[in-house]
Amino acid sequence: MINFEYARAGDVADALRLIADDSAAKFVAGGTNLIDLMKMDVERPRKVIDINRLPLNQIENTPNGGLRIGALVRNTDLAYHPLVEQHYPVLASAIMAGASQQLRNVASTGGNLLQRTRCHYFYDTATPCNKREPGSGCSAIHGHNRMHAILGASEACIAVHPSDMCVALAILEAKVHVAGASGDRVIAFADFHRLPGNTPQRDTNLNASEIITAVELPPQGFSKNYTYLKIRDRLSYAFALVSVAVGLELDGETIKEACFALGGVAHRPWRDRQAEAALNGQPANAATFARAADALLSDAKGYEHNRFKIDLARRCLVRALTQAAHGTPQLQSSKKIM
Ligand SMILES: Cc1cc2nc3c(=O)[nH]c(=O)nc-3n(C[C@H](O)[C@H](O)[C@H](O)COP(=O)(O)OP(=O)(O)OC[C@H]3O[C@@H](n4cnc5c(N)ncnc54)[C@H](O)[C@@H]3O)c2cc1C
Ligand code: SF4
Repeated sequence: MINFEYARAGDVADALRLIADDSAAKFVAGGTNLIDLMKMDVERPRKVIDINRLPLNQIENTPNGGLRIGALVRNTDLAYHPLVEQHYPVLASAIMAGASQQLRNVASTGGNLLQRTRCHYFYDTATPCNKREPGSGCSAIHGHNRMHAILGASEACIAVHPSDMCVALAILEAKVHVAGASGDRVIAFADFHRLPGNTPQRDTNLNASEIITAVELPPQGFSKNYTYLKIRDRLSYAFALVSVAVGLELDGETIKEACFALGGVAHRPWRDRQAEAALNGQPANAATFARAADALLSDAKGYEHNRFKIDLARRCLVRALTQAAHGTPQLQSSKKIM
C-alpha cells in the first residue's frame, strides 16, 4: 500500500491552491483512469485532490451559437444532452462508442482528454517504458505493437491516445479552457495533445498545476453529414484499432468543407489540413475520398504487428466519408441507463 493524502477542493481557486502546494499532487474527477494507474503503481501522486464538487458540470450555449461544456460534465450526460444530440451528433456518437455505460456515467469531460495511453508496457512496471520512466527505453518498438501508432511516432514512443471523444472534438475544432496560478488561458484542441518526440512522458501542453475548466465548441457541428466509425477487436468495450470522425458541408454533391480525423493511430487525434482542403470543390464520390485517404496516410509507417492498420485506416476513412456524404443515419444508443 502506497500512502497518499486526500483533499477535496471547494472551488477552482481552492483546487489551484491545493495543487500549487504540492508538485506531486493530482486532480481526480471520475477516477476511472487515475485510480487504475495508482493501483498498478504507474502513477504515485502524493496527494489526490478531489475536484468533483467544483461547479463545472454545466452545458451552456455560448453567445456566438456554440456550446460550453464544463470539465466535470459526465460522458453520458454529454452524449445524451439534447443540444449535443441535435447540433453535434458526431460527438454523441464518438462518446457512445467508448468504454461502457457504467464508465461513461462517471468519466468526466476533462478526464477523458487527459486519459493516458493503453500501451500495455506503460501499465507493466516490470518493463522499460519512456513514457512511465523517461530514458528507460520503449518496449513496444520491438515488442508487441499491434495497437500502436502508424503516424507521428518517435524513436522514444509509439503509443496512441485512446480517447474516442477527442477524435470528434478534433474535427469540431474545440477549445480547451484552462485555469492556472498565472491566470486563465484557452488552448486550441489541435495544440492540446502532443506528439511523443523526445518527451513522451508529456501527453499534453497542460501544465501540471493547471486545471481544465471547460471545453468550448464553435457553432459548426456538421449535424447533417457526419460519421464516427470505430473499428475494434470486439463490438463493444474495447479501444479503437482505428477510428474516424468525419464532418462534411455539402452543396448538392459538391464538397464545400471537409474535416476528418483518425483515432487509434497516433499520440493525438490525427488531422491533416492540407488533405482536407484538397476536398473543397470536389465531387463527393469514391474517387475523391480515396485520394483524401491516400493523402492522409502518405507518411504512415507500420511496425511488426500493426502494418495492417495503414490499409484499415485508409478503408475506414473512405467508408466514413461515404456514409457522411449520404447522410447515413448513425447508430446511437437510444436509452440512458443510470
Ligand atoms: C475498462 C475501460 C475501458 C475504456 N474504454 C474506453 C474507450 O473505448 N474509449 C475511450 O475514449 N475511453 C475509454 N476508457 C477511458 C475512459 O473514458 C477514461 O478513463 C475517462 O474518460 C477518464 O475520465 P475520469 O473523469 O474518470 O478521469 P480521472 O481518472 O479522474 O482522471 C484522469 C486524468 O485527468 C486528470 N484530470 C481529470 N480532470 C481534470 C481537470 N478538470 N483538470 C485537470 N486534470 C484533470 C487527472 O489528474 C488524471 O491525471 C476506458 C476506461 C476503462 C477503465
Ligand atoms: S510505446 Fe510509449 S508507452 Fe508504450 S512502451 Fe513505448 S514508450 Fe512506453
